[in-house]
Amino acid sequence: MKRFLFIAFNLLLILSTFSCNWRKDETYRKSEFLLDTIVTITVVSDSERKAEDAMDKAFAEIKRLGKLINFFSPDSEISAINRNAGISPVAVSPDTYTLLERATEISTETGGAFDMTVGVVVNLYDFHNKTRPSDALIREKLPLVNFRDLMLNQDKQTAFLRRKGMTVDAGGIAKGYAADRAIEVLKSAGIKAALVAVAGDIRAYGLKPGGTPWRVGIRDPRGKGMDDIIATLELRDMAISTSGDYERFFIENGKRYHHLIDPKTGYPAGGVMGVTIVGPLGVYTDSLATALFISGIDKGLKIAGTLGYDALMIDKTGKLHMTDSLKNKITLQPRIKTNEDE
Ligand code: ADP
Ligand code: MG
Repeated sequence: MKRFLFIAFNLLLILSTFSCNWRKDETYRKSEFLLDTIVTITVVSDSERKAEDAMDKAFAEIKRLGKLINFFSPDSEISAINRNAGISPVAVSPDTYTLLERATEISTETGGAFDMTVGVVVNLYDFHNKTRPSDALIREKLPLVNFRDLMLNQDKQTAFLRRKGMTVDAGGIAKGYAADRAIEVLKSAGIKAALVAVAGDIRAYGLKPGGTPWRVGIRDPRGKGMDDIIATLELRDMAISTSGDYERFFIENGKRYHHLIDPKTGYPAGGVMGVTIVGPLGVYTDSLATALFISGIDKGLKIAGTLGYDALMIDKTGKLHMTDSLKNKITLQPRIKTNEDE
């Protein structure tokens, strides 16, 4: 009897230990307004406390980044660089330096289609009041646009804009970088799977409870809203970014003026309605989405192929064009046509 009790006790001990350790994975989600947009973090965890703690840390990281790179805040490092344009180099923190360095890489790879100094022209357009600058004003400001005039010194960790009046604006790359940083923070906090969405810049890792991958939708650029989807994609340890002419725009005399500006002309780029990029890092998917929008379909697909990133581009007629690598990963809605249908 003693022996039986001993075995029964041990069995109970094993069972209770097992049930303590075996807590069910759940999905936890939280949103905050950061970087001038909605940031939504979804994590998979077996503990609500751990999930909340990790999400708070990730939001804090995005907030920290926002302080460094906010174009409009006089206290940001980006503003310090802009104030000192043509005057002196400015020492910046590792995050700002990395961001400027990645942006410069993408500018070089895309022949200047992505250019953080284009802000002096972008800011002449007022999308709220639906006004645009005169041709003369664009001509006057355009010489201040050239990413090659941003001098980065790796040893000194400084940034310098060569000419007075120039500015850098990280608006086309910061959201993807923020998603990358948030994912790193969640990983360090022991989270096994997560999805971070900084508006249209999303990065995922791990699998949802039940072992299914994260699935994201690609919006119809001329659809009625966020839920009007043209395609879906499974994301496994990948980032995805979309840039479109429907985010900030106005229509004047039948012509659409939007916020993606061709640095060579100073006018909104034509030819494309939306670009989606998929690849390992948000910092590149974000900047490439903007860059390929400017580059147009043919050049854009070539650039994506060279860099090993997937691209889906929607031309002005609504037709889809994509890199071969994307074709077996994407699920198109039945009504959607691609350039292979003709
Ligand atoms: P959104 O901000 O709508 O998500 P993007 O990520 O494509 O769109 O970034 C758009 C922002 O990038 C613009 O608001 C502007 O500040 C900046 N931008 C516009 N054109 C360019 C360009 N050619 N190169 C770099 N940045 C750009
Ligand atoms: Mg972008």
